Amino acid sequence: MFQIHMGEIVETTGTLGEETKRHKQGGWAAQKLQRYEDGLASHNLRSAASFAIDFFQQGQSRRIVLAGTDETVSQFQTLLPRAWQAKVVGTIPMDMNASETEVLTKSWLVISEALSKEQTALVERIITSAAKGEGAAVGLSAALTALQEDRAHILVMAEGFSAPGYRCMRCGYLAAVLEGACPYCGGTMAPVDDAVEYAVKRMLAVGGHVESVPDNPALVKAGSIGALLRY
Ligand SMILES: [Zn+2]
Repeated sequence: MFQIHMGEIVETTGTLGEETKRHKQGGWAAQKLQRYEDGLASHNLRSAASFAIDFFQQGQSRRIVLAGTDETVSQFQTLLPRAWQAKVVGTIPMDMNASETEVLTKSWLVISEALSKEQTALVERIITSAAKGEGAAVGLSAALTALQEDRAHILVMAEGFSAPGYRCMRCGYLAAVLEGACPYCGGTMAPVDDAVEYAVKRMLAVGGHVESVPDNPALVKAGSIGALLRY
């Protein structure tokens, strides 16, 4: 079991079941022995699944990649509770003795692809909802307003996006355009090189979620920033 966070392995643990053997010889005794071995294999798989569930819970795993032979992986997956099955983003063929580097490289490819799909769906949802005026905001001004009204649930921006703006020297209120004094406290608004950076800090400070999305023309067209709202 490997826990991967931000492209790195942060936790490694494992469990080995009892060794099973394949019996090639025929005969009644061999068949009986094979049944015993098959039972053991299924027992091993169940105990590995329960070990895995503990590992997922402890690491609060958001996405799961299963690796192994096709047969074992599909059997293993059916032993997971539905909630965890739903988090399986892909399966990959892998040898039990694969190196950490191989595990990381192959898994990260699958995770990145899943992440990219999730981000694309999120951006589409934000743009569609904002167009309907329901539950989302796009563009720097609208995103900053949502953020400061504590309505932003997820802040999404094009990777590397920055934009100048104004910031209240007294309370930190952010604005994309200057409209006199701070509407919250009457303080002086000072120009800042990057209002987006302050927006991200603010979002993280209140425990919100920030997604930096690469290569998404729709998001760039919508102003390179948006927010999914709580209500
Ligand atoms: Zn202010």
